[in-house]
Amino acid sequence: MATRKRTLLKIIVLGDSGVGKTSLMNQYPCKKFFQQYKATIGADFVTKEVLIGDRIVTLQIWDTAGQERFQSLGVAFYRGADCCILVYDVNVLRSFDTLDNWHDDFLRQVCNLVLILLFACPLIVFQASPSNPGIFPFILLGNKIDVDGGNSRVVSEKKAKEWCASRGNIPYFETSAKEDYNVDAAFLSVAQLALEKD
Ligand code: GDP
Ligand code: MG
Repeated sequence: MATRKRTLLKIIVLGDSGVGKTSLMNQYPCKKFFQQYKATIGADFVTKEVLIGDRIVTLQIWDTAGQERFQSLGVAFYRGADCCILVYDVNVLRSFDTLDNWHDDFLRQVCNLVLILLFACPLIVFQASPSNPGIFPFILLGNKIDVDGGNSRVVSEKKAKEWCASRGNIPYFETSAKEDYNVDAAFLSVAQLALEKD
């Protein structure tokens, strides 16, 4: 029997506090949703295995544990990332407006990392950091589409897709961590996107 290839992908989740990052990454592997607000979780990341073609892909999904409120996530959080999931809340305009910051900040951190590593050890630079920040895979999730049956949403799907198009055609998914809507599809797309980049 042919053995399947194994791949480990590091996925990081960014976005304003309260948009549902922790809820999404708990819903995906554990099928759990918590109503009460939890700024932090015990673990740094959760893992989930998916089968893509002939590969077993382990997604290692990193949470921010609440530090996103201060926009200080530290280099270790970004190091070696294969894909970045940006999340906003379709009912909170500010969380959509800050996407530019999260996107640009991510790329800035990655570029800094490349420069530091290039100086310290040129040989490992391409293993330790995203190889080409310019084409680095992002994905955008518009979360909490269940709230008030969609009546309280302030960011339309069209507006979100325009933002994605302006940022190099970032794939877009509308999700509900609460109702487990589109969560599997979004993470599967993340895995495929990150694999293509390898
Ligand atoms: P984070 O700060 O981005 O990690 O956000 P959390 O995952 O802690 O979620 C913040 C709050 O929003 C919590 O009370 C969650 O229960 C709630 N929440 C998260 N996702 C959804 C969703 O899809 N729908 C609804 N109605 N509430 C959600
Ligand atoms: Mg959180």
